[in-house]
Amino acid sequence: MAGYDYDLFVIGGGSGGVRAARVAAALGKRVGIAEEYRFGGTCVIRGCVPKKLYVYASQFPEHFADAAGYGWTVPEATFDWQTLVANKDREISRLEAIYKKNVEGSGGETFHSRAVIVDPHVIHLLGEDRTVTADQILIATGGRPAAHPALPGHEHCIFSNEAFDLKELPKAIMIEGGGYIAVEFANIFHGLGVDTTLVYRGKEILSRFDMDLRRTLHETMEKKGIKILCHSVTEWVRKRPDGRLDALLTSGKTLTVDQVMLAIGRIPNTENMGLEGIGIEMTPVGAIKVDDYSRTNIDNIWAIGDVTNRVQLTPVAIHEAMCFVETAFKDNPSAPDHDTIATAVFSQPEIGTVGLSEDEAVKRFADVEIYRASFRPMRHTLSGRDEKMLIKLVVDGASRKVLGAHILGPDAGEMAQLLGIPLKAGLTKDDFDRTMAVHPTAAEELVTMYKPTYRVTNGERI
Ligand SMILES: Cc1cc2nc3c(=O)[nH]c(=O)nc-3n(C[C@H](O)[C@H](O)[C@H](O)COP(=O)(O)OP(=O)(O)OC[C@H]3O[C@@H](n4cnc5c(N)ncnc54)[C@H](O)[C@@H]3O)c2cc1C
Repeated sequence: MAGYDYDLFVIGGGSGGVRAARVAAALGKRVGIAEEYRFGGTCVIRGCVPKKLYVYASQFPEHFADAAGYGWTVPEATFDWQTLVANKDREISRLEAIYKKNVEGSGGETFHSRAVIVDPHVIHLLGEDRTVTADQILIATGGRPAAHPALPGHEHCIFSNEAFDLKELPKAIMIEGGGYIAVEFANIFHGLGVDTTLVYRGKEILSRFDMDLRRTLHETMEKKGIKILCHSVTEWVRKRPDGRLDALLTSGKTLTVDQVMLAIGRIPNTENMGLEGIGIEMTPVGAIKVDDYSRTNIDNIWAIGDVTNRVQLTPVAIHEAMCFVETAFKDNPSAPDHDTIATAVFSQPEIGTVGLSEDEAVKRFADVEIYRASFRPMRHTLSGRDEKMLIKLVVDGASRKVLGAHILGPDAGEMAQLLGIPLKAGLTKDDFDRTMAVHPTAAEELVTMYKPTYRVTNGERI
């Protein structure tokens, strides 16, 4: 479209936006992309990447302790939080530069600016006080931690964004929330030696995961020393004269900690972007409404990633970006496929999961077979660590299709990635049974559980 400055203008330089900009530019399209904070977005700057680095950091004390059973004497270890933060900063700056360079190397133009839509083809770049025009606009502005203004003392609380860059490691922390971010941070802080309490209003942490895994992870975390208070909500947070914080819970208990972190959900970044002005339709939670192809109600404006509140994961934002480019620029309408997404929780032990939980499967299928193995992983035999691994397959008794695979234990995330393939392909339990085991591994249980542990027929466990 020669009449416009760009064929495509992308707002938001995170996982989805950068991928769409890079791939469209590589096709020869004239592409601009604006990022108001740092290229790489949530995942690289204050999400998946720094989180995983902190998970690694927090695992060392257990490795040191486990080494004794293998004959090692490890001198007393010390930890320096500032070193970890500085090294994390160096790594994310490296990745940030790569993200930006990849777009520019493909021929795209990057802007370090907040962008606002003033008309379906016109974007104002606030940082440059400049207006540009585009044939197609892609909104990929992601989300941010949900605030909690109704909580008295909320101004004393931090969110995941701040948790990565605390000046000092707290001695004690309270984390409110039961989702994967709350659970992962509880494990990180505990592993780094912080007295950690997780406060969650629901009956069990990690509400959308298989109940077996949720309960076993809860027990294991408590055994390690993490306090988990379910059915609990914070009533207020107050700063004490000594600078510490008191948090009163609905149970009547008061916790005294150095930091209170709120991880109570994430909300889409859609405010003050001109979206209401041009009539973009939103969902009740403020996410951008899109059709199956990520197109908004305005023909040339599209939205992908967390801002659409479909599935808030990096690979999903990237997949939606690829489908968008196929649809908008390659005359190949492609709807992102959100079915059977493998995912992990980087708790300690880790969760890897794909497909239906037992509870979901039982609601949808009349006859469900459960194959379940709970055992001490080999690495914990000599270490003496009293920690169980759990492997579970959920199978449709009628078709033999494997509906769900759930793992709690070392490397569960890596296993979930591989299990995503047979489950996506719709393979059956017989295919699993025909597969030779890799020995000795923990994953071999996946292909050696020949008999169902139990079945659930018409809702009844047999
Ligand atoms: C603590 C944490 C841990 C996570 N861990 C994982 C994990 O292990 N695995 C996983 O798959 N996912 C994880 N996620 C989720 C993942 O980070 C997101 O799903 C992913 O980043 C979404 O990509 P996106 O492109 O939609 O948005 P984002 O990556 O959020 O990018 C949006 C970008 O848009 C910019 N922006 C917003 N408004 C404007 C504007 N008006 N103008 C210009 N720029 C703007 C923002 O600054 C941001 O950089 C985690 C998230 C968090 C918070």
